Amino acid sequence: MSKKVNKYGLSRDIPFNVKREVRQRCGYGCVLCGSLFCEYEHFDPPFSEARKHNAKGITLLCAKHHDDATRKRLSCKRIKIADSKPFCKQGNKPHYLFEDMEYPLEIALGGIVFISPDGVLLKADQKDLLSVKQLNKDEPPLVSAYFKSVKGETLEIVENEIMASVGSWDVETKGAEVIVRGSLRDIFLHLKFTPPSRLQIIEIKNYLDGHVIDTKFGGKLFLRSSSGGTIDFDQGFIATGGKVTFDSHKGIVIDGGALILGAEKSIPFYMDLDYLLGEVRKLQQSGVFKNENG
Ligand SMILES: [Zn+2]
Repeated sequence: MSKKVNKYGLSRDIPFNVKREVRQRCGYGCVLCGSLFCEYEHFDPPFSEARKHNAKGITLLCAKHHDDATRKRLSCKRIKIADSKPFCKQGNKPHYLFEDMEYPLEIALGGIVFISPDGVLLKADQKDLLSVKQLNKDEPPLVSAYFKSVKGETLEIVENEIMASVGSWDVETKGAEVIVRGSLRDIFLHLKFTPPSRLQIIEIKNYLDGHVIDTKFGGKLFLRSSSGGTIDFDQGFIATGGKVTFDSHKGIVIDGGALILGAEKSIPFYMDLDYLLGEVRKLQQSGVFKNENG
């Protein structure tokens, strides 16, 4: 195990603002391959010789390339060149393919839970925002999504491959979570994958052609179509879908699933997905609603 401090007493913990500066400079991906999930590598000087955490001397490397660097399979010269021309600043997007996906799939968007869904789950006029498909019976489900912030930043998932936009103010990853920010206190999207079968949209502020999807105060979900139709999933409201469509003329349409408004128990202020899924299962078992998907 590596020591917590180097010979100058410098801690391995890099301040968050230095990390963000490194991410912004590197385009949010490994400077060699663009992987979205990265570690921080002191290359100039190496950590053992560093007296402070200088953002210019730290770069982003995926676990594989970080290991190559640590075990001297990659030269410092090569890392310096890659740092000066990061992969994601050459017209590429930071990306990561989630390969470990299987049914039954649980996708949670604030207070809406899509269980074992197939097809388009969330749609804004003609644009699919969230969909699931399976090419063959034995193959994993393929999740696709398109999210857009009010500033125009996007985050896409194309058949389980997540792709962030380099123009974002910040894209932070930790474990299997991705957080995209428009500014320090403005979270556009906070996603969490729990392989093999769960995707949780913990926070979102999605604006597309006047259609709004906004989680406020944790799990609370606010939906508004460009025509003014509004659904406010306040405390204690659960929906299982189904399909949600934002329509410029008709408002918001939920069909194909079941919508439970005013559930007896209130959902905790900060949405706990395990709790929510437990409530949904209890409702399913009690036969309160019929879900076509089972
Ligand atoms: Zn890499």
